[in-house]
Amino acid sequence: MNTFFIEFRDPLFSIIVFFAIIFIVAFFSYWWSRYKRQEDSKYLDAFLRQFQTLPSKDELATLISGGELSESSWRLLADSYFRSGEYEKSIEIYNAILKVGSSNVKETMFLLGKTYFKAGFLERSKQIFLELLKKNPRTPQALHYLLLIHEQMRDYQSALEVLEPLDELGEDIKKVQTYLKSLMTLTNAEFSAQEKVEMLLAIYEESHELKYLIFEYIFRVNPSLAWENLDASQCELLTDIFWQLPAKSVNFDIISKNTYLRELYTARGDVSLTESSSIFEFDILIKLHGKANATLAFEYVCDKCKIAFPFVFHRCSSCHSLGSARVEFRLTRDYHKDFSEENNSFQ
Ligand SMILES: [Zn+2]
Repeated sequence: MNTFFIEFRDPLFSIIVFFAIIFIVAFFSYWWSRYKRQEDSKYLDAFLRQFQTLPSKDELATLISGGELSESSWRLLADSYFRSGEYEKSIEIYNAILKVGSSNVKETMFLLGKTYFKAGFLERSKQIFLELLKKNPRTPQALHYLLLIHEQMRDYQSALEVLEPLDELGEDIKKVQTYLKSLMTLTNAEFSAQEKVEMLLAIYEESHELKYLIFEYIFRVNPSLAWENLDASQCELLTDIFWQLPAKSVNFDIISKNTYLRELYTARGDVSLTESSSIFEFDILIKLHGKANATLAFEYVCDKCKIAFPFVFHRCSSCHSLGSARVEFRLTRDYHKDFSEENNSFQ
């Protein structure tokens, strides 16, 4: 019977006590961390519940001045609202930070102006950037936004004025200057179409930028003048314009001298100047000899941000790059041909 009892002086007793203490400590430590985690999660839930509905301006100011979260954490929250498209909440937070007193007024104002711009409040965004530039004139990012705002408000003269400080800051303004001058010309109702063509040609002569924007208009209004002034290199940029050009507007003398145009118009079926092409889509169309209802479909990819758009653009709406559109094409069914054949069959 004595064998079932352990003397308290027995070394085995000490070992049992030692492990019992370890177990108790481990158990309490686990329980405490679990309890803390639950408490933290309850606090976080309660805190985030406040933002599921937009708090009033005063509530936000009280929360921010309460100091429960640092200013950088508030900015992070505003940024996450910005990224998820909840611009209104983001604007409220930036405004409240500025009201309470920001440690970095310049940056907070810039972020507020950017959010107003993204949300479509152009006038408010303009006021914020003008205020920011009054105190910090050498802020190129703010100048870029001010330029975009004037451009979207179609105030091209003011946009051109923003280029002066950007030029002084060493920025390359040649392309954007060409863009603004071209837009000013194209949207001016006082000029006739022919006057616009002449002015656009003069702008292009000066900069050799934004070929698509300028030649798209000239090919539409005066194709013979467009062919006359076309620099045949980089024809790939205007592939969709050439493809959609009516046959009567095509200058066959010029296309016969240019490999790319020879292949393009042979693929379209206007001429038969080549038997093959190194471009897959042209090659297939050339070899089909118009026997299938196939044509080209176009899409436009921004070279900077790689986003594809179904329509041509001159300034990317995503990254705001100028002249970054690259035309891409693929073979597709020619619904127009289908439609005309169907109509003919009823005659
Ligand atoms: Zn882009």
